[in-house]
Amino acid sequence: MNVSLKGKIVLVTGGSRGIGAAIAKELGASGATVALHFRKNEAEAQNIVQTIGNASRAFQANLANAKEVINLYKQVMTNYGRLDVLINNAGIALSSDFVSEDESWLEEWDLQYAVNTRALALLCKKAIADMKKNNGGRIINIASRAAFRGDTLDYLAYGSSKGAIPAITRSIARYCGKDNIHAFCIAPGFVRTDMAQDFMDQYGEDFALNDIALNALTQPKDIAPMVALFASGLADHATGCTLDINAASYVH
Ligand code: NAD
Repeated sequence: MNVSLKGKIVLVTGGSRGIGAAIAKELGASGATVALHFRKNEAEAQNIVQTIGNASRAFQANLANAKEVINLYKQVMTNYGRLDVLINNAGIALSSDFVSEDESWLEEWDLQYAVNTRALALLCKKAIADMKKNNGGRIINIASRAAFRGDTLDYLAYGSSKGAIPAITRSIARYCGKDNIHAFCIAPGFVRTDMAQDFMDQYGEDFALNDIALNALTQPKDIAPMVALFASGLADHATGCTLDINAASYVH
């Protein structure tokens, strides 16, 4: 199997660290031109796009702000003229004390929905309009095991904001297939990143390890090759699917 993404323009959100950085590097190594979105860490984003080469570039945006999401998309289109693959990876997981004040709980609820769900859907909306004109494209959305298994009450907003992602992905797959647009979802379990570290600081590393069927926690490099496969076109007939990568901690 030869995964080649040569000549493909790919937008990866949240690409300066964690799973997004691993995805960007993997796709770049397969020949893609990566439009790498970052929120804060410009130095690392620039470092990654320079390492990738292929005319890859970094783009800044706070995805909690819908205007910045639209502007991000516009900048990518202005720069490259088309988008072949959209990878919605950016996400935020907050532990919101279930018995906290309603006001702060709602603020954290809204923020997680804005980044994890609304920004993802808005980028899908923008990309689909252009992909229809350009004879198709592929969309890969990073959800979470929490979308299916559920999460703790403190992560209620996170889990439910991720729960919408398979539904968005399936709708796109079912109603854009004739336009040659394919959509896939990946649902990771624990992956060793800054995000998972926050959870482990709260619940302990043993909690995470005891939860899985393998001996080691999943790493970002265990996710990235599957994204490359979906992006390549070799798995187009799996459109609409969700791929679980959770070390058998939740098998359904
Ligand atoms: P991470 O915290 O290292 O990376 C998250 C990325 O999202 C960062 O680049 C961050 O800048 C970006 N981001 C967050 N809020 C943003 C905002 N307001 N505007 C723009 N960008 C923003 O975490 P990660 O583990 O690499 O997570 C990547 C994806 O994988 C997320 O969608 C996450 O929900 C999902 N996921 C992670 C795990 C895990 O255990 N690490 C498990 C399941 C799903």
